[in-house]
Amino acid sequence: MIPYGNDIEKAAQIIKAGGLVAFPTETVYGLGASAFNKVAVARIFEVKQRPSFDPLIVHISSIDQLNMLFESPIEPLVYKLAELFWPGPLTIVHKKKAGVPDIITSGLDTVAVRMPSHTTARKLIELAEIPIAAPSANRFGRISPTKPQHVQKQLTGVEYLLTSDEAVKIGIESTVVAIDGDTCNILRPGAITLEHLTNNGIKAESNKEKASKALSSPGLLKSHYAPLKPLYMFSRLPETFPSNSGIIVHSNKYNLPDNIKTAITSDNNTMTEIAANLFESLHQMEDDPSIDNIFIEVVEKNGIGIAIMDRVQKAAFHTEQRYL
Ligand code: AMP
Ligand code: MG
Repeated sequence: MIPYGNDIEKAAQIIKAGGLVAFPTETVYGLGASAFNKVAVARIFEVKQRPSFDPLIVHISSIDQLNMLFESPIEPLVYKLAELFWPGPLTIVHKKKAGVPDIITSGLDTVAVRMPSHTTARKLIELAEIPIAAPSANRFGRISPTKPQHVQKQLTGVEYLLTSDEAVKIGIESTVVAIDGDTCNILRPGAITLEHLTNNGIKAESNKEKASKALSSPGLLKSHYAPLKPLYMFSRLPETFPSNSGIIVHSNKYNLPDNIKTAITSDNNTMTEIAANLFESLHQMEDDPSIDNIFIEVVEKNGIGIAIMDRVQKAAFHTEQRYL
């Protein structure tokens, strides 16, 4: 078991000493190391069993730290986005400074940076006095963690698991945008949507072709976020389910039989609530030994629904051909 507690000072000392700390952010739990300590960053890949072609996001606590990471001149659009959406669930990809270790960027000449809004995460970075490289604190390809117990279930070899009373309130990973002059391209959908960007006067697109040219990474892999049991999607509730099924729905309008294990992500089908509880519902089904097959309701691909379905489709990739 990973030693855990809410001692931010201790966590910061561990980061400074080149150790690994799992910590909460508003999106999901991250597995952090000092961004400028190559050996520590290499251990993130080892602990997560993450392939080296998948670049990490660097987390900062103040805008000044951008100068340590982004090559100057920093595009004005970066500051515009930062002013509008930081601290928050938006990751910005920009040309990197030469000193940013290649292991973080998988050899790309760009680096992904985000300023989290979760107070514990920001305090940790501040006390560590260095940007923190942190992917999600799950094993590669598996369900992302939104609770400390999700981290404990999947990882070993981590020095400390930092906990907090403040909720992981978004529940899905950040929106990732790449800067291309005065336009940003959404590489990975998240809680900040194309509409949020354009409604704020930002030129934005969601161009998959450009995105796959920018990198090859799990953000773009077909299978990801997957439970260890078959996961099937449905749009209309089937009349019957096989025995030992677990069902995930997004409203309380269904009358499900008592003998079927059910998780309701949101009572009123609210997208932000569905996102916040999505990974938790998948963990619950994965952990329940009486469940062999998981069924999950799909949502409309609008707004945050795009990010939710991105995660659901990747989690269900192995069974998608058997869409109900
Ligand atoms: P995670 O930290 O697990 O949430 O995933 C990080 C994701 O951020 C990667 O899988 C990519 O999709 C994206 N990313 C990180 N660095 C870059 C980069 N330099 N260029 C494009 N996308 C990136
Ligand atoms: Mg991840």
